[in-house]
Amino acid sequence: MTKDIPDNLVRRTAFPASVSRAVGTPLQPSVVYASPDPDTLDAQYEGGAFGYTYSREGHPNASVLASKIDALEGAEGGLITATGMAAVTATLLGLLSHGDHIIGGNQLYGRSLRMLTKELPRYGISHTLADPTDIAAIEAAVTPQTKMILVEVVSNPTLRVADMDGIAALAKEKGLILVVDNTFTTPRAYRPFEHGADVVIHSITKLLAGHSDAMLGYVAARDPAHREAIEGTIVTLGLSGSPYDCWMAERGLMSFHLRYDRAEENAAKLADHIAQLGARVLYPGRPDHPDHNRAGALLGPRFGNMVSFEIQGGRAAANALTRAMPDMAFAPTLGDIGTTVSHAASSSHRGLTPEGRAALGMSEGFFRVSVGVEDIALLKDEFSRGFAAL
Ligand SMILES: *Cc1c(COP(=O)(O)O)cnc(C)c1O
Repeated sequence: MTKDIPDNLVRRTAFPASVSRAVGTPLQPSVVYASPDPDTLDAQYEGGAFGYTYSREGHPNASVLASKIDALEGAEGGLITATGMAAVTATLLGLLSHGDHIIGGNQLYGRSLRMLTKELPRYGISHTLADPTDIAAIEAAVTPQTKMILVEVVSNPTLRVADMDGIAALAKEKGLILVVDNTFTTPRAYRPFEHGADVVIHSITKLLAGHSDAMLGYVAARDPAHREAIEGTIVTLGLSGSPYDCWMAERGLMSFHLRYDRAEENAAKLADHIAQLGARVLYPGRPDHPDHNRAGALLGPRFGNMVSFEIQGGRAAANALTRAMPDMAFAPTLGDIGTTVSHAASSSHRGLTPEGRAALGMSEGFFRVSVGVEDIALLKDEFSRGFAAL
């Protein structure tokens, strides 16, 4: 009897041998990897041989992306997760246990705050939120159960700058794990491992990937035991990132330094322009920012691409401003190659009462701008038009 399908139809075959090589990074979507024999598979699991097994546990596109971010952060063995929040989750659940206490910055990313206040208590992990610009407040939050401090260098959206040196010294003195979410600052401005951090987290989704079309996170730990615990949590809880997103993010990352430098240059100019238009502006690079001196010492001249400002006139003025700038994305994200504008009261901080927002310095007229790489003249024109509508 003749075969009705060719042998190679179902069985996978290798690409034809080629003396030339692909210039683009290959995308490897395979979920599973075939080993030659059980002895080799044993060696793979036991570390005697390197090889992929099942892509929840690792795959080539994640390895390539992680090693590039490792190089930026001065880290080793960084891990890729499905989202930035998956990196936060893996770090907290991987390193904390029932009975432990964590100190978090009081202006952490909204979902990280929810993680501390709504999720961790269900697992018996308690927390205190404290102002990371005030080292006495952080120190006062330490209890005998405290195991970890989680901070962001620059807060969202008020752009306050944490006392990172004070916090690192405190963490060292008390034997606490210092976790730094470096999403806003990026390694272009601040490399937490050089300043005493034990764990560094990124939402790759933001500036590192930079095009709002891939969602991933990154986490690296200085201590191999911490790394192993976090990796175990990622693989068991299923928090790993997909090959396609890694492949997209790697492409975005290739231009990260160029995008960052240009966006930062634009941000400084746009901050001054918005101040001239009459708003109260928050930009760490401006001498009128409350943490300007600390920002200069910690970040040098790298004051970042985020600018916040506040206008008078409540919600009506906020609506008028965004409607008068229809080509600029009014969207709750940051780090895109193009400029995006977000409004705390209707998005990131909508869970708070108006009084709660006021205590953090955010009225209905409070906006945050993630500045992109456009021609600065275009950006100035758009904001001029927006303010003219007020
Ligand atoms: C966006 C963000 C996160 C979460 O990242 P996702 O990729 O959206 O899950 C965590 N921390 C900071 C500072 C962020 O801006």
